[in-house]
Amino acid sequence: MPLEHTLTKTLWQYSEPLPDETMEFLKGIAADYCKVKNYVFKKYSGIKSLDKLTPVYSILNEMRVCGLREQLNLPAVYYELAVMDAVGTIKSLWSNLKLKIGGYITANENLSADDRHYLRTVLKLNNVYAAVLNRRDYEMPKNAEGLAIDVKRLNSLLCRLTRRYLKRPESDCMNYFRISPNGYSYKDGAMRIVCRTPRKRISIPLKDGRQFDRQIQIRKGYAALAVPVEAKIKKHSGYTGTVYIHIGRADMLTLSNGHIYGQALNEMTDPETERLDRKNRERHKVYAAYIQNAENGDMQKAREIEENNLGKCKYDRQKERERERTKTFINSEINKMIAIEKPARIVITAPVTKNKTRIYAKRTNRELTRSFNGYIRERLEYKCRVNSIELEEINAKGTGAECSACGAEGKRQGREFICESCGFHTTIAYNCARNIKQKYLEP
Ligand SMILES: [Zn+2]
Repeated sequence: MPLEHTLTKTLWQYSEPLPDETMEFLKGIAADYCKVKNYVFKKYSGIKSLDKLTPVYSILNEMRVCGLREQLNLPAVYYELAVMDAVGTIKSLWSNLKLKIGGYITANENLSADDRHYLRTVLKLNNVYAAVLNRRDYEMPKNAEGLAIDVKRLNSLLCRLTRRYLKRPESDCMNYFRISPNGYSYKDGAMRIVCRTPRKRISIPLKDGRQFDRQIQIRKGYAALAVPVEAKIKKHSGYTGTVYIHIGRADMLTLSNGHIYGQALNEMTDPETERLDRKNRERHKVYAAYIQNAENGDMQKAREIEENNLGKCKYDRQKERERERTKTFINSEINKMIAIEKPARIVITAPVTKNKTRIYAKRTNRELTRSFNGYIRERLEYKCRVNSIELEEINAKGTGAECSACGAEGKRQGREFICESCGFHTTIAYNCARNIKQKYLEP
């Protein structure tokens, strides 16, 4: 297998606050971008288009002549990316669906080995799969010849499963669009992007002078530009050890050697959780008053309330800022851990899942640290890949309750872990990290 030397990551670049008319323009493009995607979803997400999705050019050609672009007056640099964006989504839905059907095939005990072989073969070949779904004739694939199977029965099973799992995608995301490199240029610290009037460009002043030559996505109020760039994968010769990490709520990373990174992450996120809770309660009250006035027919009062109190802009901006601050902290602490520990391998526990959905204690459901747990794992995974560090996940079973000194079941109180059997007294996080190590090293 060839070694990957790069991987795609996203850089962010921010604009200066933009005048209303520019914002209106960006929002208009985003709304049309969304319309194009939904049009593509509607037309091409069904079984009839399955064998049309790759390569994307056949759909792109049809979309070029269908009249929608002219109707929306949307420049091609946006229109075509919206089409490709939507086709990409449809394709990933199909691969998810195939995974689900694959899982069903494996789990179904009424299927013989030959049955499974046939079904898996069909799933791999889009043209054959499409023919089965649309009840067209097809040539039996070479490696499915001579099987002892009831083709008709299996094909109708496949049709049934596909109907069960096939989803019709729909986008309601109106604050984002992509733009291709020929749709923008740079001048005087601003990015100039194609507008609806030919040969005219709209200027977006940027906060920094970086210039990119890739597809750019535009999001949110002041315009945040997401730029996918290739990151070089680094190989560190001095990275040799293995570290065992507990990912926690209070302290972010607790290692089996006792080191802690991202200490007291919760102190950063808890006040924000409280602030958001308080804000939400206030908003709820205001909203109730708004409804009341509207129901009583006092529309002027209702409008006043709406204008003065129900705006989400400030609320969202503040929330976004806090999130960015926390994310920066998380990233720099992971970097610090990697630079200090110099690991060749990192062992963590797999997230606790049930029916593939992550389960968390109800009480902590709305806590922000929880919502960052996924982000921490994602960043850890990414940074491991960039630094050629092996990341292994082991089953969490037993790593929480058992005493890492004697193996007896201990007591957990708040953040403390107490073993009454041997007297070991420490934090839950540290005990857990030690258990991860022992479990990993167990023969
Ligand atoms: Zn013990």
